[in-house]
Amino acid sequence: MSHPAVPLPPDEILVAGEWRRGTGAASETVDPADGGVITEIHHATADDVDEAVRRGAEAAASPAWRDLLPHERARHLHRIADGIERDADRLANLQTRDTGKTLRETSALVASAAGTFRYVAGALETFDDELTTQRGPSLTMSVHEPIGVVGAIVPWNSPVASDAQKIAPALAAGNAVVLKPAEWTPLVSLALGRIITDSGLPAGLLSVLPGAGSVVGEVIVTHPGVGKVSFTGGTSTGRRIAHAAAEKLMPVSLELGGKSPTVVFEDADIDAAINGILFGIFSSSGQSCIAGSRLFVAESLRDDFVERLVAKTRALRVGHGLDPLTQVAPLVHHKHRDSVAQHVERARAEGGRVLTGGQAPEGAAYERGAFYLPTIIDELPNTAATCQEEIFGPVLAVLGFKDEDDLVAQANDSAFGLACGLWTRDYRTAWRVARRIDAGTVWINTYKQFSSSTPFGGMKESGLGREKGRGWIAAYSRQKSLYWGLSDSPHPWAG
Ligand code: NAD
Repeated sequence: MSHPAVPLPPDEILVAGEWRRGTGAASETVDPADGGVITEIHHATADDVDEAVRRGAEAAASPAWRDLLPHERARHLHRIADGIERDADRLANLQTRDTGKTLRETSALVASAAGTFRYVAGALETFDDELTTQRGPSLTMSVHEPIGVVGAIVPWNSPVASDAQKIAPALAAGNAVVLKPAEWTPLVSLALGRIITDSGLPAGLLSVLPGAGSVVGEVIVTHPGVGKVSFTGGTSTGRRIAHAAAEKLMPVSLELGGKSPTVVFEDADIDAAINGILFGIFSSSGQSCIAGSRLFVAESLRDDFVERLVAKTRALRVGHGLDPLTQVAPLVHHKHRDSVAQHVERARAEGGRVLTGGQAPEGAAYERGAFYLPTIIDELPNTAATCQEEIFGPVLAVLGFKDEDDLVAQANDSAFGLACGLWTRDYRTAWRVARRIDAGTVWINTYKQFSSSTPFGGMKESGLGREKGRGWIAAYSRQKSLYWGLSDSPHPWAG
């Protein structure tokens, strides 16, 4: 199919409000649907990071930003949301080209980015400092202050939405932000940066610095001027960042990987469960931290359920992200597709039986793209590497369970604890199991739903801290206590 031209961001990075060519090496961004080069972006260097942090700190300390009242800062956030909404089609198209995702998904991510700015703006208007209960001759208060410069490091799977989830609360709290997009997908973050600078945000408050994690990312994390890092990405990178943060005693929030269990109980609404499970693992081609990649099915249902699931999986439309009928788009990069394929080979070597998929689709339309068929694997125990490691692709492992205790033990036998899905008509079963599973989010008779007002984050190796909800802005603030002495007489201690 032919694709409409999308205006591409120029080869410029954003250093504290100033657009200019990066002083690092040129890097090609590739369209995963056909392997073609989209454009070239020169990366940032350590010097660019240093300048971004230094000038970001100045901008955050300037009265033009520091002295704004919450409702005035909220106005800036609304203006950014207006800009995102105005440019929604272009952003979604750009993100589809850069990440391969379907236009339906990228449009939803763009809408979510605008929604994030609006929710945070609203929350900021009612982000109250606190008068604490008086317990002595002082009036006591707890107030929030900006941290200064926040480093925001994001992965390639949902850039515009994950960028917004860090930029909006960090700005709301009065900080400057240095954003580092992933190497494979810098384009939509640069386009978002342009919208933000055009919105009239005081110069210097935002930098967008594409580059390698080992260069730009590490310099952001270790820079003495960066007071917090908010990271979304893989668990091993998160652990490395946590070590570096410990050296500086810097707060860090980590949204990491997952291997989320989805459970179908005997009394489940089968049609709803099948659709929810397919959406949970195969939308975004499984490149989702919350993908429901381990499926536990009650023994009495298992054969029929799996047969129906396989039949529906085979009917999913694999294709180009711009084709409105596509359900499963290419993976983000050919290298990532090859890594998913290797995971499936290992599953076979472990004794897994591939019920469907297990290879790239055949045919001229798929030849040059990073496609992989939605894959279901049976006959592996939960202890197999396939069921323990995050694959981050369209690969589902089917497992069984004897009873509720066995289910909980297997579901929790994982290094991760990000999400879980439960399909049952019995609210008591759902309540009991939801409370016993190690997961930051449990979906009951639904899956992969998000709300800005509901905290999101992981347990165990899925992360530290929460995004969204009423605590969102506080997470980017420093807390300070004020004591206002009320006594008219001098303190008796000094006589
Ligand atoms: P990644 O960890 O390889 O990279 C994420 C970001 O970190 C990139 O920008 C990368 O350049 C940067 N980075 C790499 N090494 C770094 C270092 N030493 N110091 C600083 N920055 C560094 O992850 P990825 O492959 O881009 O993304 C996939 C992972 O992200 C998956 O594990 C997925 O589960 C996770 N993820 C988690 C969530 C969540 O909210 N929990 C959401 C989306 C993705």
